[in-house]
Amino acid sequence: MRLHTSSRLALLSVVLIAACSSFSGSGEGTPAPDTILFNGKIVTVDGKFSIAEAVAIRGDKFVAVGGNNEVRRLAGANTRSVDLKGRTVLPGLMDGHLHNAGGGPGVDLSRVRSMEELLAAVTAGVKAGKPGDLVVSNNDWHEAQLKEKRLPHLRDLDRVAPDNPVVLVRGGHEFILNSAAMRRWKITRETKSPDGGEIGRDADGGLNGELIDNARRLVTLPPPPKLTQETVLAQLRILNASGITSVRIPGSFIFGSDPIETWNMLRDLKEKNQLPVRVNYLLRILDYSSVEKVRETLAKWAIKPDEGDEWLRIGGMKTGVDGGFEGGLMRDAYAEPHGKGGQFKGIRTVPQDRYTAVVRELNRQGWRVASHAVGDAAVDQVLQAYAEADKDQSIKGKRWSIEHFFIARPDQFPRARSLDLVISAQDHLYLAAPSLVQYWGRARAEQVTPVRTFLDQGFLVAGGTDSPVIPYSPFWAMYHFITRETISDGVYGPNQRISREEALRIFTINNAKLTFEEAIKGSIEPGKLADLVVLSGDYLTMPEKQIENLKALGTMVGGRFVHTDPALGPN
Ligand SMILES: [Zn+2]
Repeated sequence: MRLHTSSRLALLSVVLIAACSSFSGSGEGTPAPDTILFNGKIVTVDGKFSIAEAVAIRGDKFVAVGGNNEVRRLAGANTRSVDLKGRTVLPGLMDGHLHNAGGGPGVDLSRVRSMEELLAAVTAGVKAGKPGDLVVSNNDWHEAQLKEKRLPHLRDLDRVAPDNPVVLVRGGHEFILNSAAMRRWKITRETKSPDGGEIGRDADGGLNGELIDNARRLVTLPPPPKLTQETVLAQLRILNASGITSVRIPGSFIFGSDPIETWNMLRDLKEKNQLPVRVNYLLRILDYSSVEKVRETLAKWAIKPDEGDEWLRIGGMKTGVDGGFEGGLMRDAYAEPHGKGGQFKGIRTVPQDRYTAVVRELNRQGWRVASHAVGDAAVDQVLQAYAEADKDQSIKGKRWSIEHFFIARPDQFPRARSLDLVISAQDHLYLAAPSLVQYWGRARAEQVTPVRTFLDQGFLVAGGTDSPVIPYSPFWAMYHFITRETISDGVYGPNQRISREEALRIFTINNAKLTFEEAIKGSIEPGKLADLVVLSGDYLTMPEKQIENLKALGTMVGGRFVHTDPALGPN
């Protein structure tokens, strides 16, 4: 037996699989498999977390999983056999909250590591245009990646761009402007922060350049370039290269792109059999002004809840009640100076009554709701609305979700459990830890996204990255959940560590459950869709530190390799 590991447990599991023949497809007259992968360490993520050596695939499904001999004897004349040479195979990885893979036409800040490099990138952007041209950045960067661990200030930008308006788009909640941009949109130190937004100020009341949440609406950016099928495909292929076979897109793909146009584009790609990733797509409510508006929008969209198939499906409706790192809505004030003397508790982007009315309407129309809630007070608002909707018509068993749930309080667990909620958790802390300390203080930041507690409290937790807010690597996210390490600031909240097995479930079968697809994907079992990833190392036994550097040597979706690394060798 050329098993990569000498683990007795692994061998025992293989025998168990063979013995209880969770094994099918060997009957008389059954066509031979198209593909057999053998000599692997196949982490099936079935109910018993069994390890197998080989899998057989016919069409788009697994037809057998077990020991080398049992599976290989199914081979027919035309079966392609691939020797895994002891490599570890996981079920295809799933990201439950991913917008896109990042990038874009603006100034690329994703790789800068210091203020100097950031300003150099802005300078290059200024020089590439004409004097007075607007310079905009892509949104896939965060100040926690900078040596200085702070945002650029308006004055920093003024130094390199005295005449060109500059708007740095950071994540999905914040812009940073220079003085020329403030002048262009007539924002002065006298301008009041709009409802649900915040104009950032220095201690003396002067503008610091930041526009948070609804304050961003004071600025009109040029429309993003037209999204094309090629752009969408290119984005999805990038994901394949890190082992991703399924994503749930929470309400917006490329920020600012029209959700229905994107949906139609994905549908076209699906009809042409070109999708390399399975997509669960949430639509998004942006306008909470009235229930009538919501009804109108839904009627205009004419899309049914859950319409679609295993390649592309509508997964529900995304809503949101608060900001992000800089605007999460808290029960207690922010750390100073952000707390402004105990006053600032974050940003409520929609009042409770209007939010509740919309959620109740969505429930009446049969929509499953997924709500962005970062702070503990935001979670309170969502729980209250969900509970009221539940009184109209039960939401139990419908897998409504809370997206992010950074700050959890013990009194919220029984309330969330009684509504059968799923928690969609990401690794923001991995990147943003030092900023979160500045905003919320060490104690709160330490316990951001308490996955251990969520699991101990009996919740279904589905994992994701929120890319491009956080880079899309599922291995980074798993590594962070396992170790609670952060990129630049050491371990946060070691009490929240989870096991490798738990992390793997969170990025596979639990995501399948979130989208009601656990019967067809999320584990390597006969009858399920043949989605898998061949890894560069043994996830279960390699030193912890190496998990974040794992690579996908091969990614298969529906029985077809959609990504292969040369290191996989000729097969
Ligand atoms: Zn998001």
